[in-house]
This record gives sequence, structure tokens and C-alpha cells, in this order.
Amino acid sequence: MSGNEEKLVFPGDKVGTSEEWMAGEGTFEDKGNIYAAQFGRLIFDEDSLEAKVDAVNPIVEVKEGDVIYGSVFMRKEAMVVIMIEKIEGVSRDVKEDVEGTLHISEVSEDYTDSLEDEFLVGDIVRAKVTETEPAIKLSTAGKTFGVVRGYCPECRKAMKFERKRDKLYCENCELRSDRKISRVYSKIKLKR
Ligand SMILES: [Zn+2]
Repeated sequence: MSGNEEKLVFPGDKVGTSEEWMAGEGTFEDKGNIYAAQFGRLIFDEDSLEAKVDAVNPIVEVKEGDVIYGSVFMRKEAMVVIMIEKIEGVSRDVKEDVEGTLHISEVSEDYTDSLEDEFLVGDIVRAKVTETEPAIKLSTAGKTFGVVRGYCPECRKAMKFERKRDKLYCENCELRSDRKISRVYSKIKLKR
């Protein structure tokens, strides 16, 4: 690995050996290995033959108006806590635990009676960021927002979207389940 290739590393990550590189800024050497001393961008400087780590803000800035993907971490009576994993259009992952809350009033344009029929813990949700200060607030109002991958409440397998019925279906359990389903369900490629 060399040149302009960029990689994000965490403190303690092994980034090379002292046979290949010298420990530059943001790294340290221990027993012939070079480790990152801070979170940041790994750089191999061909001129000085140093491995360096340039510090970057560990928290990917989530901005108002961003579209995010995240998993439902917790469901309370009037809100859902979502762990933000990805920002749409941003190639690098959200590395740290960044959470946003989705209030029951922000689930859809219509009135939502109960969150129980809309989200299950573990579901992957596409949502819009409506506020970032003092905390990240999300909305799933709109047809393309909502659950993009829902898991079966019985067997935890990913469920299929039955467009006609507007329900999710588990082929394994032959079970149907309600959700706030995004119209892009199954059209989105997810890593897992
Ligand atoms: Zn099932």
C-alpha cells in the first residue's frame, strides 16, 4: 500500500512494520511493528519513508438534510433510537456510534398510533436528518423513507416486501408483518 490510497485507522491498529517504514507522526513503534496512535487517515510518505496518521474528527458529521441508513437500536413508546451507520452518497462508513431519534410524530405524514407496528429492533431504516443540535433527530415521512430491511419477529430472517399488501412477508415462517416500509425496500443494496 502506498501513494494516494487512503485508509482510516483506529488507535492501536497495526499499520506496518519498521522494516518497511519509519514511525511518523500519529504512530508509534513497538517490537518491530508500527501502530496508529490516533484515529485518522493513514499515509505512507514515500519521500521520508514514514508511516503517518493524520488526525480526523472521529465523528462523521451528520448534517441537516442528510439521508441516512441506520439500524433500530431501541424502541420506546413514543420514539425509536436509530444507530446511524451510513450517510447516503458518502462512501466512507460512519465509524463511531452516532445515534438519532425518530419521534412518533415524524414517522409518516399521517398520524401514527403506535410504533410497535412500524419498527422492530434490528430493522434497517432510511431516514432524513431534520435536526442535529442538540441531538440528531430523524424523520421517515415520505414514501421512500422507512424500513429498507425488516427482520422476521419469529426467525429474524430478512423479510420480503409484498407490494400489493403493503406488508413484509417471511417465507420461512409464512408470516406477514406491518412496518413503515420504504418504497425502495429491496432496491437498496446493503452490506448485510
Ligand atoms: Zn420468519
